[in-house]
Amino acid sequence: THEFNTKVYKNSVTIKTGLFIGGQWVDPVNGDDLIDIVDPATGKTITTIAGGGAEDVDAAVKSARKAFKTSWGLKVPGAERGRILNRFADLLEKHNDELAALEALNVGKPFLPSKMWEMAHIVNIVRYFAGWADKIHGKTIETNDKKMAYTRHEPWGVVAAIVPWNYPLAMAVCKVAPALAAGNTVILKPSELTPLSALFIADLLNEAGFPPGVVNIVNGYGHSVGSALSLHPNIDKISFTGSTITGRRILKAAADSNLKAVTLELGGKSPTIIFDDADLDQAIKWAAMGIFTNMGQICIAGSRIYVQEGIYDKFLEGFTEYAEGLTKATGSPFEEETRHGPQVSKAQYERVMEYIESGTSEGAKVHTGGGRFGEEGYFIKPTVFVDAKPSMKIMREEIFGPVCCIVKFKTEEEVIEWANDTAYGLAANILTENSARAIRMANSVEAGSIYVNCAMDGGIGAPFGGYKQSGIGREMGEAALDTYTQVKAVHINI
Ligand code: NAD
Repeated sequence: THEFNTKVYKNSVTIKTGLFIGGQWVDPVNGDDLIDIVDPATGKTITTIAGGGAEDVDAAVKSARKAFKTSWGLKVPGAERGRILNRFADLLEKHNDELAALEALNVGKPFLPSKMWEMAHIVNIVRYFAGWADKIHGKTIETNDKKMAYTRHEPWGVVAAIVPWNYPLAMAVCKVAPALAAGNTVILKPSELTPLSALFIADLLNEAGFPPGVVNIVNGYGHSVGSALSLHPNIDKISFTGSTITGRRILKAAADSNLKAVTLELGGKSPTIIFDDADLDQAIKWAAMGIFTNMGQICIAGSRIYVQEGIYDKFLEGFTEYAEGLTKATGSPFEEETRHGPQVSKAQYERVMEYIESGTSEGAKVHTGGGRFGEEGYFIKPTVFVDAKPSMKIMREEIFGPVCCIVKFKTEEEVIEWANDTAYGLAANILTENSARAIRMANSVEAGSIYVNCAMDGGIGAPFGGYKQSGIGREMGEAALDTYTQVKAVHINI
């Protein structure tokens, strides 16, 4: 096991860089995969870690299975599982500063907003699911005086959680916390681009009191660790968040191995729809937050902004001002006034720049932004396209960067049709002061989450997930617990 010390913001942080299996740090059996972890604000390597492979996944599965049979699952009362989860939440809260600093360093998130919002949200997610741990019950179903059945909500067993790089810790806890609350043991695979916060929490898991093997963390590439997890015959369930293309691969691997259960949270191309009667300032604020938060690297990004003709000119003017204000607040994630950081990696930067070029070459017009910011790192200016056509790549594909198209519409009927003209169905934002219209729209748009007069502003208690090719299953809320348990019916003849 190797340690790496770094000073991030006002903190000196020590991170161990092995694999965390059975409550201990171990080196990968075959540590040939050396992965450079890069600071996207400078392009410089922060540290290099050794990724795991199939042998390490196997060791983690054995450790997780043993823990499930001996020291977790329904062997441990729900109240006790909840107590340990709450202790873990307290530790995350205590280390809020270091965790926000690590995400700022590794992902490029502006430190202060991330600390104020994201880190607090993460603690709340763990506490929310800790509260559920002793409230998972079945039902009794009476047939007559002599016959009845009852149901048990049993944990699956060993769950693999494969997460992306855009919200590394938040995505990890919104899988790990409900899985553990329901009694499963877990193998977490962070993104190879952003493993630092997951490495940091490993020791906190021990300190919180999780028995060894209840949570294991195996770093590595998708094609090695991710693929070994998807194909492993002794993993009962995979919970995945990432791109639609990887989701398809995981579903195939699950089908070809042991038909493990799969939950997929995938990509999106969400519409933001602004009617003439919307509050203009609110509409500008929510539409901008809906696309530019986290540098546009959000699965529910409102990247197609449809604006009704009566409000279009004023909206475009105000939205442009907002985008240009963000460009002025672009810089090092650790500067207090920074509100817009870099894209996560060189590859992601290049991908977004290619989309900007494709928009221009297909005939859309850059209204503001449209290029890199600064001399070093992977910064892209908040970019607004006008004159985009429905067939263009920038209108159809997920860009996953700070790039949106603003399109004028006339009628409710036409905008419903345009909003639904996509393979995705993750979210939609609807801005209107007319509540009957808001409800009509919410009923008509094909998406798993509808935000009325807001964006990105969902509570932990509501289910979250995609229609169409945006996913299978739900996370968050009580619905998450359903996906981490299987139901057994016990029939009794008296
Ligand atoms: P990605 O699919 O490239 O990678 C996600 C994770 O899967 C990583 O840990 C990666 O190592 C792993 N992986 C890659 N190939 C694999 C394979 N063959 N088998 C198993 N695992 C494999 O996605 P990304 O680039 O990290 O994240 C961006 C994507 O995530 C976007 O499409 C975004 O929309 C999506 N996302 C969705 C949600 C949601 O809740 N719906 C939330 C955040 C991000």
